Amino acid sequence: MTRMLIIGPPGSGKGTQAERISERLSVVAISTGDIFRANVKGETPLGVEAKKYMDAGDFVPDSVTNKMVRDRLSEADVETGFLLDGYPRTTAQVDYLDEILAKGDEKLDVVLQLTADDEELVHRLLGRAKETGRSDDNEAVIRHRLDLYHEQTEAVVAKYAERGILTQVDGIGGIDEVTDRVMQAIKAAQAA
Ligand code: AMP
Repeated sequence: MTRMLIIGPPGSGKGTQAERISERLSVVAISTGDIFRANVKGETPLGVEAKKYMDAGDFVPDSVTNKMVRDRLSEADVETGFLLDGYPRTTAQVDYLDEILAKGDEKLDVVLQLTADDEELVHRLLGRAKETGRSDDNEAVIRHRLDLYHEQTEAVVAKYAERGILTQVDGIGGIDEVTDRVMQAIKAAQAA
């Protein structure tokens, strides 16, 4: 049973690595960003609401995000474990997730942080913007998303470090190289 989070700044490759971890460990990966993007594409009420925030690089309000995660975690496919990607991003979301898990007498096993410096991230994200045309990948919005990561999400990382379940992985390098580091880090964390 593995209940994990992957946390990292925008552009750190967490989505790519999350997919690979999910395949290798046979756990479902749940990306809040992907769920929001699917709703934006489908023009659902949730998507219309979320788009306003996403385009500006802001966080979607906790009231919306928390409920969405709660609903997703009540589905049957998470019973054998899960990998959350992009949630929690605020300390209030950490508290909310703790409550959801406590109700099922559950807790997180491993929190994996991918690290990379801001200039490398901006460079990568500007490259991605050209390829995918993601509406939140322009330089001003990218810098804002990085600021939010430093201001809010690093406090999330600190909370998990205090609990002794944080493991950090250098996110700079080739995709396969980073995957190798990630898989080793998970193994080491599970054996600890
Ligand atoms: P991501 O694909 O993880 O970079 O997420 C893309 C965007 O979705 C973010 O910039 C936020 O606008 C929104 N989002 C994703 N996850 C969260 C979250 N946990 N809390 C608030 N907003 C989120």
